[in-house]
Amino acid sequence: MINEYYCPHCKASLKVDNHVILTAKGDKNKGGLVLFEPKLGDFNIISHKDFNLENNTHVDFLCPVCHKNLSTKKENLAEILLTDSDKDEYRILFSEIIGEQATYKIKAGKVYNAFGNDQNVYVNHFGTGPEY
Ligand SMILES: [Zn+2]
Repeated sequence: MINEYYCPHCKASLKVDNHVILTAKGDKNKGGLVLFEPKLGDFNIISHKDFNLENNTHVDFLCPVCHKNLSTKKENLAEILLTDSDKDEYRILFSEIIGEQATYKIKAGKVYNAFGNDQNVYVNHFGTGPEY
């Protein structure tokens, strides 16, 4: 299955070659680029060796193209869009806490799929309202 990822604001493609690229910005750092695996549930991330991402710290993820913050109204969750090989579009919400493994695939306001050892932390945050 070929997943394509997009910014929810400017719709720029966030996947280049085989990584999803976002900007991360923490309280204590100036920000840097972070590469994610396009396979949902694979939580390996890559960043420059001088860009210090400490476990259990909160970062803001930004679109590297339009620089908008990807944070949602849901605490500690950021959002990007996914289109799969069937051209179905999903919202992907994922934790802004470094090292926390919680990713949700959202379709029509409902959790379609959840990934990661920490998925139970936020799974009750999703209702059935229009803002999912
Ligand atoms: Zn953007």
